[in-house]
Amino acid sequence: MQRLGFCTEHDIFREAYRAFLQKEVQPNKQAWRQAGIVPREMFQKMGALGFLLVWADEEHGGLGLWDFRYQQIMIEEDNRFGEVGFYHTLHSRLVAPYITHFGNAAQQQRWLPRCATGETILAIAMTEPDAGSDLAGMKTRAQERSDHWLLNGAKTYISNGINGDVVLVAAKTNPENPRQIGLFLVERGMPGFERGRQLEKMGLHAQDTAELFFNEVRVPKENVLGDSALGLQYLKASLVEERLISAVGSLANAQCGFALTRDYVNERRAFGKKIADFQNTRFTLADLAADLEVAQVYVDRCVDLHNAGELSAHSAAKAKLVTSELEARVMDAGVQLHGGAGYMQEYEICQRFLDARVSRIFAGSSEIMKEIIARSVLG
Ligand SMILES: Cc1cc2nc3c(=O)[nH]c(=O)nc-3n(C[C@H](O)[C@H](O)[C@H](O)COP(=O)(O)OP(=O)(O)OC[C@H]3O[C@@H](n4cnc5c(N)ncnc54)[C@H](O)[C@@H]3O)c2cc1C
Repeated sequence: MQRLGFCTEHDIFREAYRAFLQKEVQPNKQAWRQAGIVPREMFQKMGALGFLLVWADEEHGGLGLWDFRYQQIMIEEDNRFGEVGFYHTLHSRLVAPYITHFGNAAQQQRWLPRCATGETILAIAMTEPDAGSDLAGMKTRAQERSDHWLLNGAKTYISNGINGDVVLVAAKTNPENPRQIGLFLVERGMPGFERGRQLEKMGLHAQDTAELFFNEVRVPKENVLGDSALGLQYLKASLVEERLISAVGSLANAQCGFALTRDYVNERRAFGKKIADFQNTRFTLADLAADLEVAQVYVDRCVDLHNAGELSAHSAAKAKLVTSELEARVMDAGVQLHGGAGYMQEYEICQRFLDARVSRIFAGSSEIMKEIIARSVLG
């Protein structure tokens, strides 16, 4: 089915981005997965070509392409031809917009241009060893002093945790009120800001996910984002876009896993015929093809709504829930239809299966998505 909402400019952008991936990313994927990290220079290469913070205005180093479709295109191409563990979208479209939406002019001027060139890499730290889904349960605290805030706590599972130069850290700012949270821009080199282990994961092997520690870190007041009491509201507002990003990625990965499997079953033979000729294969792929097409229409519609500033939290939650669950079904069926080959790392379906497992957990788990949707249905 023809996808709606894409024009010639989008197609040109897609071609240019794909060419970048084919030249700079594809040949290095395996090495990055083995190293467990994408070299920092890759952010700078992307920045030099204008592919970071494409939405930012020119004054801040962007291209002024606020239309989310451009990020959607990049996420889709990353899934097809790039490396899904290279978290430039987290840097560009998940964290940097906090500075635009909630930061002041001085903060925007100070950080956005360096983020657009890739000199400064961003991360966001909400999750803690004892609090993930329940953000209000976090223990990290910030206490106000004369000209700074004193930050203490620990965060975990932080993406870009090793490469990140500026980490947006969520911390409680009022011991009397657990829902009062502030957002603090903590910079590499600030005394008391330490990186812990780089965590070994099931998949996403090129992604540098890490623990972070904050021991009596003096965060200057000019590094506080917006109102130090309203961080939870800022996070909730921004999680809508985060879930859309996640949905676009899950669906793109699912589309790729489906195509891989379709090609494989058309090649592989058993009992004198192609695997594609067994009714089980045909029905399995027919079911998935139908679900993928329906999901694509819904996600593209969510992108339109987001561009119009009308994407609700529950619509974004539906998109994330449906696409991440579908991604899991596609990968599981893909591995099954590949037989033993599907269990081998050298087959792409195996890597995609492993990379996909986290989609139902991060950016809000499927259970949390159901809670959000249920609230919209039942109150
Ligand atoms: C690879 C990876 C990258 C990540 N990157 C980042 C990052 O950059 N920054 C960041 O801050 N965090 C990051 N996270 C953390 C991620 O967002 C959390 O892991 C996720 O929100 C779940 O929190 P949790 O791990 O504490 O699980 P828990 O909250 O302990 O949940 C455990 C289980 O209980 C279920 N559960 C919890 N509450 C409810 C409920 N109310 N109703 C029903 N079931 C419930 C959950 O769905 C889950 O199945 C990352 C995680 C991973 C794995």
